[in-house]
Amino acid sequence: MEHANFPKNFVRYLKFIHEKGGKTTISELAVQFNVKKPTVVETVKKMQEEGLVMHPPYSPVELTRKGKGLAQELLWRHRVLEVLFSSLGLTVEESCVEAERLEVHASLEAVKRICSFFGHPRKCPCEKDIPAYGGCCKSEKR
Ligand SMILES: [Zn+2]
Ligand SMILES: [Zn+2]
Repeated sequence: MEHANFPKNFVRYLKFIHEKGGKTTISELAVQFNVKKPTVVETVKKMQEEGLVMHPPYSPVELTRKGKGLAQELLWRHRVLEVLFSSLGLTVEESCVEAERLEVHASLEAVKRICSFFGHPRKCPCEKDIPAYGGCCKSEKR
């Protein structure tokens, strides 16, 4: 599935679960995104079909290897775009909103160029770590 075709929920859940250390619960997701538990269960089921998470009965929701890789890429995309927008004078909040709009639509090449332009930044404007993206940041000294 192309990034741009991912439902917004998938993208949000992936990033959230990754930030939680790769594991979370249905209740936590429901609270975080202000949706009912059955809705979360439905989304998680679809993500499971895409091989992004595992959710055995009575167990937490856990990222698969594929899900983890994708979550890291999405966080890298999001935060590199935040760096760009905040350098143009947008506030931290505005930068986050714009980054969320573009993170799945910008081409990989474009995000790599932005990342290089800013010297492969390690912190986003909200002081969060930017994960290194293989093929972009790893080859460079950080
Ligand atoms: Zn940020
Ligand atoms: Zn980079």
